[in-house]
Amino acid sequence: MKTMMKQYTMCQCEYCDYESRSANAVDIHEAEHFGLAVAKWHEYKAKKQHAVYTSHIILQTKNAETEKAFDEAIDDLLSFEKEHNIKV
Ligand SMILES: [Zn+2]
Repeated sequence: MKTMMKQYTMCQCEYCDYESRSANAVDIHEAEHFGLAVAKWHEYKAKKQHAVYTSHIILQTKNAETEKAFDEAIDDLLSFEKEHNIKV
């Protein structure tokens, strides 16, 4: 007899062991770690990703332009954290 396997994709919180089948639930959960509304959480995540991205660019091409982009990304991230009282 052939058994049907049910496959679930589990999503996990990046900051603790919380898991859910709903990516949306994990999103809301992660936002709570920082005391942010989901929209702000997305904004914060995008700023973090942008900072990581610009740091990777510097590894490949280090010049005044890429350093400026990185500095701006970090400043932007830090001022967001300060504005929303995020301690990292
Ligand atoms: Zn969590």
